[in-house]
Amino acid sequence: MPARALAQPAPASLRRHFLWLLLGVSGMLVGGVGLSLWFSLQVDSQNQQGLLQLHADSARSSLNRRLNYYRTLVDSIASDPALEDLIRFGDTDAQQQWAQSRRRLIPDLFGLALLTPEGAVLGNAASLRVGLPCQAELASRGPLRERRLHLHREMSGAEHIDLVAAVQGVDGDMLGGVFLSMRLAPLQRILDESTYHGHALTLIGAAGETVVSSGEVAGAAREIRLNVGATGWTLVARAPIQKLADSGKVQIVAGGLTLLAVLLLLGFGMLGLHRAMLRDVAATRAALTALTHGEPVPAIVPHYIEFQPAAEDINLIALQLQAQREQLEHLSLTDPLTGLPNRRAFETRFPQALGFAERGHRIALVLLDIDYFKRINDSHGHGVGDQVLLALALTLTSLTRRADLSARLAGDEFAILLADLDAAGVALWYQRLIDHFSGELNALGLNLQTGISAGQTWLQGVTRDSMNQALARADRALYQAKKRGRGQLVFDTPAGEKNAG
Ligand code: GH3
Ligand code: MG
Repeated sequence: MPARALAQPAPASLRRHFLWLLLGVSGMLVGGVGLSLWFSLQVDSQNQQGLLQLHADSARSSLNRRLNYYRTLVDSIASDPALEDLIRFGDTDAQQQWAQSRRRLIPDLFGLALLTPEGAVLGNAASLRVGLPCQAELASRGPLRERRLHLHREMSGAEHIDLVAAVQGVDGDMLGGVFLSMRLAPLQRILDESTYHGHALTLIGAAGETVVSSGEVAGAAREIRLNVGATGWTLVARAPIQKLADSGKVQIVAGGLTLLAVLLLLGFGMLGLHRAMLRDVAATRAALTALTHGEPVPAIVPHYIEFQPAAEDINLIALQLQAQREQLEHLSLTDPLTGLPNRRAFETRFPQALGFAERGHRIALVLLDIDYFKRINDSHGHGVGDQVLLALALTLTSLTRRADLSARLAGDEFAILLADLDAAGVALWYQRLIDHFSGELNALGLNLQTGISAGQTWLQGVTRDSMNQALARADRALYQAKKRGRGQLVFDTPAGEKNAG
């Protein structure tokens, strides 16, 4: 038995079970929100990258168009057929005038000049806006066919890019070149117009110097670098890395609120469930406790319908146990042969009778004993003896009122408590008892030589009486009845008077 008890698993905690359930649900919700956030971050990042790419591509194509225009412009000027005569035969003034007149026609143009095949300026370089750095570069540059762009930022307010184109004669010989310098403002305009809000564009020259730039991005940024035409220049587009878009923040708040709502719902739900279950268990315990103490068993009314069958079973078991207990109690207080209350029952009820006596009621205790009963047993058999006992029990049942009590104490001895009768009443009652008893015996066809001896005493209301004392007094009177020849009632006081007590 102990081994079996040891093998049983320890009971699980309902509260801990609920807590784990709460944790599990919270974890799943947090995981779900986190996962969807991660997905939306990924999508956001791809969208941002795509937008930056679009931005950079659009700015680059605008820049390319502009720079191609410059190249086309210088090439078309260089291919002017009038230039052959002007360079071959014109004087410096005419060449200078030609350049100045052309310069006025082209917007955003900074400087324009005709060059010798060696790169020297034909005319006054300062008037034609060919600065010293440009001249030095033209001299060192070599063949005029070179098509690169050159950036000059030496003079503040005169920043420009320059480019050259060769001028050839009809027979293909090199006559000289055209020098063209453009202000940076158009390029700056292109970047300004192309820059999205929050993004930055920077055009970087071949030597890594900034040509023009627009917008600024502070902190961590994503970046795209694109080559601009065949210039060796690079366009850098930058955009801030947006960690969490507004939609993501909304998602977190919505997830948090959902989690909170679910937790509250679950928490309160589980608390209610926990309380209801404990209430049902407490009701069951109260019912079982009442059953143990022999008190009326309250019916269990369960909170949940699922517990109904178990509760009904327990209620039924409780009712059956209660009925069995009442039956046992009845049996333990009843004489099995006669059905009269037994000695125990007499002892149980006696204090109540004593209480009546203390409150002034006249209570007589009468002890009865069948005369020569042994002889009946001996000569007629035990069965007849039993019938005699039953006849007396029937007589007692007929002659006692609700306020009275008759009990079989042992063998052929009976005790009767009679309420509110005086001595004459008791004597009359005894007489009726004898008559009724012999009538019962006759009805059974038993013609027996027997009678009933009786000893009477009054319960003492004032001096504290006890059952044993009262029984002893009645027994003494009964002994006197036997001694005086049986078949009579004897009072323990002279003429049956109520004693002083
Ligand atoms: P007395 O007149 O002095 O009372 O003499 P008695 O023969 O009646 O003697 P007593 O009262 O002492 O006898 C009691 C007898 O009752 C003894 C016992 O054999 C008998 N008896 C006790 N219980 C039962 C029972 O349940 N059934 C029967 N048939 N006899 C019983
Ligand atoms: Mg007897």
